[in-house]
This record gives sequence, C-alpha cells and structure tokens, in this order.
Amino acid sequence: MMALLSSNGMGAFFYEIIMISDNDELYNIIKVLSDTREEEILKQTQELYASIANTQAEWYKESGFTCPEGCGECCRNFEPDLLDCEALFMAAWIIENQSEVADKILEGDFPFPENKGCPFWDENKEYHCTIYGGRPFICRFFGACGSKDKDGKTVFKPCKFYPANILASHKPPLAHRQYSEKETLEIFGRLPIVMTDIMETAVSLNPNNQTTEELRSILPKYIKHLKWIYNIKKAAPAC
Ligand code: SF4
Ligand code: SF4
Repeated sequence: MMALLSSNGMGAFFYEIIMISDNDELYNIIKVLSDTREEEILKQTQELYASIANTQAEWYKESGFTCPEGCGECCRNFEPDLLDCEALFMAAWIIENQSEVADKILEGDFPFPENKGCPFWDENKEYHCTIYGGRPFICRFFGACGSKDKDGKTVFKPCKFYPANILASHKPPLAHRQYSEKETLEIFGRLPIVMTDIMETAVSLNPNNQTTEELRSILPKYIKHLKWIYNIKKAAPAC
C-alpha cells in the first residue's frame, strides 16, 4: 500500500491510499528496475497520474460534464512534448504492455507514423488512444481542466472541439466561453483540476532537465535506455 498526496482541484489536499498490486500496468518492469533512480521516478509519476485520475473522477461524478463518446479530436493534429518523467513512464508502459510496439519504435517505426498529430492516435479505434495507460500529463487533463485568471481564481472553458449543440442542450445551456469561478461552482458544483498546479510538481521530478522534447524524438531514447537497464538487471546474478 502506498499513501499519495492528491489535490481536489480547489487548493485543499487530501491523502488517498492506492494499492500497487499485480494489476498494476507497470508491475513487472518496476520490479526489475528496483533500487534504481528510474524506479523512483516511475513511482512518483505514477502517483501523480493517480492523483489526477482521482480528482478527475470527482469532477466527472459531481459535474456530470464529460467529453462526448469517441470524440478524440484533441489528438488529431496534436503531438505532445514530453518531460523526461513522462517519456520514461510512457516507455516503461509500452515495454510492459506492448513489447512489439516498443521494438518497432526502436527500429524507427511508430504505430501511426503518417498522423499529423500523435503517432499513437488510431482514427478507427473507438477511444482512439492506443497507449491510454501510458499517456502523458496533458492528455490526462483534456476536456476537464481549468486555468487561473489574473486574480488567481479558477476558471473553466469547455474544449473548443466540444460540439456546440451538445453544449446548448446542457442544463443550464453552455457556450464556448470562459466561466468564472463563481459560475463554474454554480453550474458544475465544483471546480476542475488546474493543470499548472500539478505541472509544478511534475517538473520537480526532473531536477536536471526541466525542458520538454517532441514525443517522436524523446520516446525512442527512453525505450532504449530502459531496455539497457532492464537487460543488465536481468543478467545480474541474484544475491
Ligand atoms: S498519447 Fe493518446 S491521448 Fe495523448 S495525444 Fe497521443 S493519442 Fe492522444
Ligand atoms: S477534450 Fe475536446 S476534443 Fe478532446 S475528447 Fe474532449 S471534447 Fe473531444
């Protein structure tokens, strides 16, 4: 069991208990990487992702405001840039869950290389993202994320791709505009998570390099790096 600090999107924090179990999507690779800096960063990133998921789940439950089923327009022309911790996590997730894809990426072949946006976006798949459990921070905020106004108050604006007719049928009707903190609380019953609050912690996981790099450029380097450590650890005699 592991305790993690989680934000409820309103500045107050609470502790959530999560179980690192056999069902964990990084269970095997984390075991092999034990006692390495990579294991530490993977676990910290995993905790942050879990805290985002908890907060998002509360927003969806209370607000009832979710993305339309199967939309995914946000990824069509968008390729995320990654921090080191996100690239490490994505590489570990792909090695553990889609080893053939990891090998192909090392040969320079992404699953959907012709995409203008993310090379993991499958137009024909119902939910489009083919590496959902390994996706980076920004993808975990799509559709349910607030920002701060000049007074430091949380504001919310429905995604620009959200169909206008579905917004108009909301009770009360919504539009593509920014809702103040007061309006958001009145309409949705709570405030959404604010990405900048979380990203400060995310950036702190990368003390030596706080810049980002294009997914197609950084991911192969981390897959190669993890496989190298993985092979060394596997070959080491057990003590
Ligand atoms: S990782 Fe998944 S959610 Fe993120 S941009 Fe790519 S397809 Fe979209
Ligand atoms: S964030 Fe916008 S584009 Fe992405 S799935 Fe939600 S409504 Fe669609």
